[in-house]
Amino acid sequence: MDKKEVRVRFAPSPTGDLHVGNIRTALFDWAYARHTGGTFIFRIEDTDRERVTDEYIQAAIDTLKWLGLTWDEGPEVGGPNGPYLQSQRLDLYATWAAKFLEQKDAYKCYCSADELEAVREAQRAANQAPGYNGNCRDLSADQIVKFEAEGRKPVIRMRMPDGGTTFTDLIRGEVSFDHNFVPDFVLVRGDGSPLYTLAVAVDDVLMKVTHVLRGEDLLSSTPRQIRVYQAMGVKPEDYPVFAHLPFVMGQDNTKLSKRNGEVSIAWYRQAGYLPEAICNYLALLGWSPGDDLENISMKELTELFTVERVHSSPARFDMKKLEAINGDKIRALTIDEFMTWALPFLTQAGVISGTPEELALVKQALPIIQERITTLAEIPPMLKFLFVKEFAVDADSLPKISDSQSKEVLKVSYEQLQSLGDWTHESIEGVLRAALIDGMALKPRIAFGAVRIAVTGSHISPPLFESMQLLGRDKSLARIKASL
Ligand code: GLU
Repeated sequence: MDKKEVRVRFAPSPTGDLHVGNIRTALFDWAYARHTGGTFIFRIEDTDRERVTDEYIQAAIDTLKWLGLTWDEGPEVGGPNGPYLQSQRLDLYATWAAKFLEQKDAYKCYCSADELEAVREAQRAANQAPGYNGNCRDLSADQIVKFEAEGRKPVIRMRMPDGGTTFTDLIRGEVSFDHNFVPDFVLVRGDGSPLYTLAVAVDDVLMKVTHVLRGEDLLSSTPRQIRVYQAMGVKPEDYPVFAHLPFVMGQDNTKLSKRNGEVSIAWYRQAGYLPEAICNYLALLGWSPGDDLENISMKELTELFTVERVHSSPARFDMKKLEAINGDKIRALTIDEFMTWALPFLTQAGVISGTPEELALVKQALPIIQERITTLAEIPPMLKFLFVKEFAVDADSLPKISDSQSKEVLKVSYEQLQSLGDWTHESIEGVLRAALIDGMALKPRIAFGAVRIAVTGSHISPPLFESMQLLGRDKSLARIKASL
């Protein structure tokens, strides 16, 4: 058999911001395409335009770009199999649905919502599996005329044959569905709008998708999609190969939700996570590169990613691990890269306005905090003390320097620092150690703690002596004096 070019798609229905689960799928799709030298298709499944808005679609596009998951076919870049928004492909679904009716693979179903509910009720009462009972499968011409005359708007239903569907999932192995549990399903609503099962299957065929890597929650829709391929006349050897990725669970092993970990990727972006850290961490949710390797680059991910290394058991979301990876990625940045990431956070927080002097000072200050932070959002509070116009000690730190011992520490520090020759972090440290630790026999935490609060306004700051050097002699001394 010819080796087919790999074509994978990420096909979200953005009814909100993309979340961790969506992006884990997108990442695996992208990595698989890049690993195999195949094509990564990005398709927007927006047939439900009440819930999928233009704004969410744009946000999804922006999120993928921000993460560096570039696509070869899809919105903005186009491609030979477009359009890539399902709302622009409605005529295709209508054409195929009509063909299925003609082939008798599908039929019109006139049952009303109340009638369907009554069927479900009866099934529940009889302890039967719920699902359509096939009432309209074989209507006579007279019955159809009667229903039409009543003004009923039919849906189009796919006829599921007796028997079952078996396919080989790359992650789960052989999976079988008994059609007793896969009732005839709706392809097109009474108003003519297509359902997911129809649109997804038609598009996967028309876009020549070879591999469907997606969340396990969609496993049960696979036999229905295979039924659509059959009705489209696709040969079994040309069906896309399925790989259903394991669930991502929250920290407490229940379904991932806002409460136990999941928040939108937009939230992580705002909270100061680097795209590379998010991708690195999400890559480990259900896949492992082997050798206990945990810190990997996007390039390594594409080199190492294989579906064989995806687990079938659920993965657990661990915020602490994501934080640790984010810290590692921040430390690995060059100062210029770090600057690029830090500046928007500093300007948005109103810490700097972006003058050349400010930028020069930020550049000097960043190396002293790079080792200490886990998210970019920690930068503004850490560096604020260098830029504030009206300096004041934080309300919660003020009591910590109001006692007599702290006052003494500040007084001695002021006197010693005043006569200090050159103002470097080494000389500042030398003189303060001599006076406070050796001279006053204080513990460093107590002694330097008071100076830290007086100079930076907070008990949490970058390293003290470097901070004082950056702040400069005049401001440092003026702040200590003001605290006295
Ligand atoms: N549009 C579907 C969703 O967001 C996914 C389609 C698929 O991957 O098959 O849930």
